[in-house]
This record gives sequence, structure tokens and C-alpha cells, in this order.
Amino acid sequence: MKLLKDRIMTEGRALSDTVLKVDGFLNHQVDPELMQAVGVDFYNHFKDYGITRVLTIESSGIAPAVYTAQAMKVPMVILKKQTSKILDGQVFQTNITSFTKGTSYELTLSKNYIHRDDKVLIIDDFLANGEAATGAARLVQMAGAKVSGIGILIEKSFQNGRSRLEQAGFDVYSQARISRLGEGIIEFLE
Ligand code: 5GP
Repeated sequence: MKLLKDRIMTEGRALSDTVLKVDGFLNHQVDPELMQAVGVDFYNHFKDYGITRVLTIESSGIAPAVYTAQAMKVPMVILKKQTSKILDGQVFQTNITSFTKGTSYELTLSKNYIHRDDKVLIIDDFLANGEAATGAARLVQMAGAKVSGIGILIEKSFQNGRSRLEQAGFDVYSQARISRLGEGIIEFLE
């Protein structure tokens, strides 16, 4: 998606050869117009998939996911990152190790918001090693629903997230695919 790639080129900052900072429009400050365009682009890609719920992970997935859900006219569900297990039987949980922080958390889905007949589109800001997206997909499957697609804003294609998700049989669409990062270097896959 050209608009997103242009913005990454003008405002993104590679902190190392693995981490990209995009705080100015996605992770700290949010550009609503860009996020709306991102949502419309996901809608155009997935509009024939029969999506009934858009699912994302707090907090940086929320802005793009809400515009995607608005374009699709379906609800958006937020997976919470809890520090510990909840034992009341009202939630599904799965353990995730964060790529950027190196810590782990319990990704949590209330049993109220995804049902067996749902076709779910998972949206996330970044794809690195696929931990977060794989965990989100596990929760959808625990609820007995179907993962119909995974939409990513920024895929770091030199990491193994995409191949992991594809091997598991998921349909992945990324709006910007980065082939290389380094100090002052951001390159895209063509
Ligand atoms: P994964 O679970 O695929 O290994 O990592 C994806 C998650 O880690 C995303 O939800 C995102 O929050 C975070 N992440 C991974 N790589 C980056 C990065 O280069 N920059 C930023 N800002 N977040 C990242």
C-alpha cells in the first residue's frame, strides 16, 4: 500500500537491523486519516471473505482494526494482554512472548465476543516472528470459530512470521513488506 510505505519512508526510523519505530503515526501518535485508508485497503482485500468479526491485539492494532471493522460493517474485538491467568472460566487465554519487549503475557479473549459461526479477520500492526498473530489465531480456534484472514500493516519479511503463518494454513496480507532494516536503511520487497 503506497500511502503506508511512503509514510514509513518519511517518518519511520530503524532502531537496529530488526526494529522499526513508527511512533509518529501508529504506535504512539495515531494518524486517523492514514488509519482510515489502511482500513479501507484491508476491506478491499478481504471484502469477499464473509468476515463477521475483526480481531486485534491491544494497543497498537486498535486504530487500524476499528477503521477496518467500520468499512466491513462488523464489530471489532480487542484481545487483552494480561499479566496473569484468569481462572473464572469466562475467558480463553494463551501465552505469548513479546518480540519487542522480550517479556511474556497471557493473550486473553472473553467468551462473549467470538462465536462458533464467526469468520474472523485478525489485524495487527507488525509481523515479526508471528508469535502474536499465531496466539490470536489459537484463541479464535479455542472459541470454535474460523480465522479467515490475517491483515498486517508492516511485515518484516526477513523474519519468519509469514512462513510460520502460511505453514499453519493462514491467508496473510501485508500492506508494507520490509526486506531489510539497518541504521538509516529501510528497504521494501517488490
Ligand atoms: P511477533 O509476535 O510477530 O513476533 O511480533 C509482532 C508484535 O511485536 C507486534 O504486535 C508489535 O507490537 C511488535 N513488533 C514486532 N516488531 C516490531 C517493530 O519492528 N516495531 C514495532 N514498533 N513493534 C514491533
